[in-house]
Amino acid sequence: MINRRFLEGLRKVGPIKFMEPLSHHTTWGVGGFADVFMIARSEEQLRWAFVLAQEYGVPCLVLGAGSNILVGDEGFRGLVIENRAAKVVGPYQDGKIWVVRAASGARLASLARGLARSGFQGLEWACGIPGTVGGAVVYNAGAYGGCLADVLTRAWLASGDGRVLELGGKELSLGYRGSAFTRGAIAGMAIQAVEVQVWPAEAPALEAKIKQLEAQRRQAQPRGRNAGSVFKNPPDRPAWWYVEQVGLKGWRIGNAYISQKHANFIINLGGAKARDIKALIDLARERVRRQFGLELELEVALVGEGF
Ligand SMILES: Cc1cc2nc3c(=O)[nH]c(=O)nc-3n(C[C@H](O)[C@H](O)[C@H](O)COP(=O)(O)OP(=O)(O)OC[C@H]3O[C@@H](n4cnc5c(N)ncnc54)[C@H](O)[C@@H]3O)c2cc1C
Repeated sequence: MINRRFLEGLRKVGPIKFMEPLSHHTTWGVGGFADVFMIARSEEQLRWAFVLAQEYGVPCLVLGAGSNILVGDEGFRGLVIENRAAKVVGPYQDGKIWVVRAASGARLASLARGLARSGFQGLEWACGIPGTVGGAVVYNAGAYGGCLADVLTRAWLASGDGRVLELGGKELSLGYRGSAFTRGAIAGMAIQAVEVQVWPAEAPALEAKIKQLEAQRRQAQPRGRNAGSVFKNPPDRPAWWYVEQVGLKGWRIGNAYISQKHANFIINLGGAKARDIKALIDLARERVRRQFGLELELEVALVGEGF
């Protein structure tokens, strides 16, 4: 429970805020208040804040860039740690391979661009993905034929008792938009840092590739406040196709609407509530279930109260 001793301990780790609106910390721009909120700027701050929450039994949410999450309008009862631990070391040679180590709050796209600029390939596909490296592990972020599973060699996880566990990439069971985390096989851990393999290459060619992928993305994806794809693609067809078929392209509830440009995107037109977005999600799932007998699976995480 949140009590005085917990808060005293947390203040020693870093500055805290009360009643912080999570709408300021999610790309959808929705979500109620966090009881307690802290920004972790180093791996140590992330770990110790996380450990304290476990020690005092306080529910704890590690938030990356908030780009794959729908936080309820009633917010989160407990501690939210926004992860901005962003130190990057490398690339350096580890035996015969080149690797780079990134703290989990590093932005995946910045990492990808920085690597390309310094002549290392392996993450170009990630240049337009707005999340952190930690969030990318949880969902095995991917695009344009690449995904984190292809390059992840190691991850360091903070456990609730203060230990740091080192796991090989394969041990995290990364699969299509999921991992041991989303499947519940790893509970009570925060991702602290990752190591990915990279390969020396010509910087100008990599930068050109990134420009081309960015242009492709601009053409395919709508603008506005959103969280990327809402549903995972079923094996046979993309999720947007199903949403279109059931007549929901352009459908609006409150100030949330299903994009005309890409029906797997829900846009906050300004002032939308999480419950509007959730109502669109429920409607799409129900119609697709009725018309096709298919259960659309969520790609975004639903977190907190008020659904
Ligand atoms: C415009 C747009 C385009 C996108 N395009 C793509 C795309 O092409 N491909 C793709 O895969 N995704 C895409 N996404 C979705 C999103 O960017 C990715 O899923 C990203 O990896 C999420 O990272 P995040 O830091 O924002 O995670 P958050 O949304 O902050 O968190 C998501 C979940 O991960 C957990 N989490 C985050 N960090 C940690 C940590 N350190 N330890 C433990 N748990 C953690 C959170 O608790 C939460 O449950 C897109 C999103 C947007 C808005």
